[in-house]
Amino acid sequence: MKKMNLVLMAAAVLLAACSSDTQEVDTYDPAHDYFSFANSDDFVTEHLALDLDVDFDSSELRGSATLVMRRLNEEAHEIILDTRDLAIDSVELISAAGTASALEYRFGDEDEVRGTPLIISLPGDLPVDETVDLRLIYSTSPESTALQWLPPELTAGGEHPLMFSQSQAIHARSWVPLQDTPAVRITYEASIRTPSELLAVMSANNDPLTPRGGAYHFEMPQPIPSYLLAIAVGNIFFAPLGEDTGIYAEPELLDDSVYEFADTQAMLELAEQMYGPYAWGRYDLLVLPPSFPYGGMENPRLSFITPSLLAGDRSLVSVIAHELAHSWSGNLVTNATWRDGWLNEGMTSYLDSRLMEIIYDKERADEERVLSYRELLLDLERVPPEMQALAPRLDTGDPDDFQGSIHYSKGQLFLQYLEETFGRDAFDEFLAAYFDEFAFQTITSERFLEYLDANLLQVMDRGVGREQVEAWLYEPGLPEDAPVPESATLTAAREAAIAWSRGDYATAEIPSADWSPHATVHFINSLADDLSTERLAELDAALGFSDTRNAEIGRAWFIQVAERRHTAAYDQLEKYLNRYGRGRLILPVYRALVENGEDAELARTIFENARSAYHPLVDAGIAKALE
Ligand SMILES: [Zn+2]
Repeated sequence: MKKMNLVLMAAAVLLAACSSDTQEVDTYDPAHDYFSFANSDDFVTEHLALDLDVDFDSSELRGSATLVMRRLNEEAHEIILDTRDLAIDSVELISAAGTASALEYRFGDEDEVRGTPLIISLPGDLPVDETVDLRLIYSTSPESTALQWLPPELTAGGEHPLMFSQSQAIHARSWVPLQDTPAVRITYEASIRTPSELLAVMSANNDPLTPRGGAYHFEMPQPIPSYLLAIAVGNIFFAPLGEDTGIYAEPELLDDSVYEFADTQAMLELAEQMYGPYAWGRYDLLVLPPSFPYGGMENPRLSFITPSLLAGDRSLVSVIAHELAHSWSGNLVTNATWRDGWLNEGMTSYLDSRLMEIIYDKERADEERVLSYRELLLDLERVPPEMQALAPRLDTGDPDDFQGSIHYSKGQLFLQYLEETFGRDAFDEFLAAYFDEFAFQTITSERFLEYLDANLLQVMDRGVGREQVEAWLYEPGLPEDAPVPESATLTAAREAAIAWSRGDYATAEIPSADWSPHATVHFINSLADDLSTERLAELDAALGFSDTRNAEIGRAWFIQVAERRHTAAYDQLEKYLNRYGRGRLILPVYRALVENGEDAELARTIFENARSAYHPLVDAGIAKALE
């Protein structure tokens, strides 16, 4: 694997002899975004203006996108944009005086993952380094991979439709024609028209006092990568949490959300103390219906959040700390390509655990570190070795699903390793300087390594140099000196599971009253392999796992139920798979049904009945798992 590191590091040309008389040139460039068609070295977008109608009857957005693009290369006479399933009516060049002239354009070959390049021809006399304004009149498809159009029955209120976007990783191109690569940052503005009773919100300057009426205008003055473009429209209302924080949600979810996420303002203030000023104005949350595919999405100024966090006990709010922390790692300093995703996700997972430690306590943060470490070990069994590096070679495949939790959990562990090596104070100082140095920029893993080397490795002699760091970045598995997270409370829960499984004490004596939800999850994960279904039923009757309101306890339990074919709980398992649409919660349950060797057919039947409520991204992931 060392050889591959050299290739990655040099970003240069490797000559590999294939036979005595032919040579193959490896042109892999880790700084290149292989998931975008855009020729952003020739033209780069600086600003986007959207003008869109939101049509719930046809499940389409219709209108225009105007791109302000700077010409960087005088040889280039074509602009290539990313699209997926977009209908383009016209492309116009807008003069300084505002007059429009039609431009010729054509689509290139469609690619299953990357969509379809849109190639626009420009007149020959445009000066270099000037900007051009391109206006594209277009509409989206009802199959847009970024947009989910929910009928009223799939919302909490049941009376109004709701639509939301999920642009990460490469889905912005399915609702806006643009240069869909994190390497390009744009400011944006948008005029959005909706049915008059609904509210539109975006990853922009949402004003909590905005009156309803069906016409909304947004500005986003800070430059963002395209994957942070976001919109939602529905019967959404606002409730404040603190001075700069609040919640948007359907009225049915508003009170529960205000209770659950009450610590958001405190998290924001604490994060600012640790990592420097919050750069984005307000920080609000949008709590979406259950089909939202992820735990949260860090859309700037307005994180999109799954309602599966509403456990009633604030036990799952590390996701809020996570999305908030992205305001620094990811949104402020952004991975240059999806191959560098650990710079977004690993860094953010590290920061969120630090926030959790201070807002709550070390015990809770340690519990979360142990659970995430366990998932990392499971993923290291599943993910092929060449994808286990933090910064793998990545020029094919789908950036949505290439690595499991490696970017998150291994990245977090790597930063914990640096913290333990250089000391918390020095490492915090390093991170604050790093966010300041690269604010509003995109960087590669190699750029991070250079900065780390110059500002920490060479400054403090702790016996850790580039070689150790490169092992984390470029090699599979975990280095031998990787930290191993520990939690006394989780160890106790694990020991309780083993002892109860052995019959050392009665079910009524399980000390579950003292446990956090995390300890309960660890208890479930640690049950002995050979338990009879009678004993599982006994456990369920005593501790109520099948009826839990905590989505993570349910996840752990129903994975076990499916793996062990505990059929007495299959009705509740099916209900669980219908209650949630978040991929993390349901995909492993489906997978466990398939992998138990008996229930693939049942899994397919449940899926067919439930899938109309799932998001296209989750639907695609489950369909793949069921194949
Ligand atoms: Zn994240």
